[in-house]
Amino acid sequence: SIRVRFAPSPTGNLHVGGARTALFNYLFARSKGGKFVLRIEDTDLERSTKESEDALLRDLSWLGLDWDEGPGVGGNYGPYRQSERNALYNQYADKLLQTGHVYRCFCSNEELEKMKETAKMKQLPPVYTGKWASATEMEMQEELAKGTPYTYRFRVPKTGNLKIDDLIRGEISWNFDTLGDFVIMRSNGQPVYNFCVTVDDATMAISHVIRAEEHLPNTLRQALIYKALGLPMPRFAHVSLILAPDRSKLSKRHGATSVGQFKEMGFLPQAMVNYLALLGWGDGTENEFFTLDQLVDKFTIERVNKSGAIFDSAKLRWMNGQHLRSLPSEKLTKLIGERWKSTGIVTESSGSFVEEAVQLLKDGIDLITDADKAISSLLSYPLYSTLASPESKPVLEDKLSEVAASLLIAYDSGEFNSALEEGNAGWQKWVKSFGKSLKRKGKSLFMPLRVLLTGKLHGPDMGAGLLLVFKAGKCGVVAPQSG
Ligand code: GLU
Repeated sequence: SIRVRFAPSPTGNLHVGGARTALFNYLFARSKGGKFVLRIEDTDLERSTKESEDALLRDLSWLGLDWDEGPGVGGNYGPYRQSERNALYNQYADKLLQTGHVYRCFCSNEELEKMKETAKMKQLPPVYTGKWASATEMEMQEELAKGTPYTYRFRVPKTGNLKIDDLIRGEISWNFDTLGDFVIMRSNGQPVYNFCVTVDDATMAISHVIRAEEHLPNTLRQALIYKALGLPMPRFAHVSLILAPDRSKLSKRHGATSVGQFKEMGFLPQAMVNYLALLGWGDGTENEFFTLDQLVDKFTIERVNKSGAIFDSAKLRWMNGQHLRSLPSEKLTKLIGERWKSTGIVTESSGSFVEEAVQLLKDGIDLITDADKAISSLLSYPLYSTLASPESKPVLEDKLSEVAASLLIAYDSGEFNSALEEGNAGWQKWVKSFGKSLKRKGKSLFMPLRVLLTGKLHGPDMGAGLLLVFKAGKCGVVAPQSG
């Protein structure tokens, strides 16, 4: 049966690279009716934290990538934290010791340093050349009796090679001669990362390992351990790196890189998931808009590209706009209304003002946070302040065009307000007769009107905007401080 895992180390935030690996695992499992396992790789006890683990789980859940087994949900292959699996690692290490695939190495750090230096001088690979690979039973017992600390070292075949058929990268082969016998258990009894991963993947019956390409050197060591334990190897799929637009490795200096940051900036999980899927995958058509369910439907690992994918934050933003506008209208209104309420822009998160404002403004926003700027800009139309203030009257009369002068008259007489009072029909009627009286229409009417009424050259539909602002004055909407 198909079983995959996402195996983050809880030493920091979930970054877009990790999130994409999780997503590909999730899609692979869901599209094949398999299981998606979450395993916490906390062997590095110093750098692993509970906060980081909690944040990882929170971010994965936010993305909608629910796991079938792992922390919080349990399962038959637990425990799902490496720090809780030491008994298992010891058991497998002893097994390897008994079969001779592993030997005790009593070399001191100084001896190992010397070996490295000698190899460097002779320009040889830094492989282990110490005596413990071929020590006699007696030599070993002597050190044990003395209580000399030792590591468990894996015996790598001196010659030969190993091939895997990677689902993304095709055939990959390695020679053993430069690898050298590597440590699987430190002298303090702490198992080493590659060993833990192998034991875990084997005992959790993982069928496919989908992970970042930077783990390729680990794959060779892990494959050797599988062989030594006589365990079947999973299929591997190594996903390429995510690159910055300058093709360097994506990092903090390129801006936001963690899922939590994007969440805070107002991105939708649907858009994140959609965009992450497109980093190295496509369904072979022009279509780029996918919901998570559609991705499950279309995803195949064979279509994952082996070259690096470029992270384009402008495209992610655009994608967010697509998803925002495809939300059901009530949902979008609720989302934006609640945001406006929490930022103090409106006093009520629902109602006709919020509904109409969302309809008017939604085409101009990509992020939920853009909605704040859009409504603030609307509510700071100079409509009342300019027209109604006594100081502005002479200025409008003297210096501005005939449009301003006539507008002022319309405002003073109450004609303008009663037109808005009648809603869209009232506005349409008024603007038509206003234009007629000035012998203006089209651009020559609407441009000066827009500038005078909204204070801006561009914006959403002017009539709808004005009606909303007018309404705001009557609906207890809190207008933000402008400027
Ligand atoms: N814990 C590793 C990481 O966070 C993943 C190891 C794996 O997928 O095999 O990069």
